[in-house]
Amino acid sequence: MKCPYCGHTRSRVLDTRDSGDGIRRRRLCLNCQKRFTTYEQVSVAVHVIKSDGRREAFDRTKLLNGIRMACAKRPIAMSELEGIVEQIEEYVYSSGQAEIPSKVIGNMVLDRLQEIDPVAYIRFATVYLELPDLDAVQAVIENLVTRSK
Ligand SMILES: [Zn+2]
Repeated sequence: MKCPYCGHTRSRVLDTRDSGDGIRRRRLCLNCQKRFTTYEQVSVAVHVIKSDGRREAFDRTKLLNGIRMACAKRPIAMSELEGIVEQIEEYVYSSGQAEIPSKVIGNMVLDRLQEIDPVAYIRFATVYLELPDLDAVQAVIENLVTRSK
């Protein structure tokens, strides 16, 4: 989303409001510090398909809450979490697909969390990947430790 004043592509969301038929956001340009408003309208409902085959409408609030829980008490700014959700939202609505597997979304979150905070990553992975036991959790941790070396 380009800043209308300077054309910079990075902005921080100050406020998000659901206006019924769209989403209004107040943004702060990270370059020139000016504020502007964007308006998003959803043309197609996108559904998320769970691993057990159930479908549900993509819900940014639910996604954000899931990420927030994984990041509780970790040194991560709320704006960073908003950024992850926005990125995913953008992907979801611009992909042109009416249905997206929950795994795809989960993996996108994991990719970002891996860069940001390993503890949050493991928390999110435990829930999202439905790790069945300690061995599975350990495998994820080992993978993470290996990658960070
Ligand atoms: Zn700007």
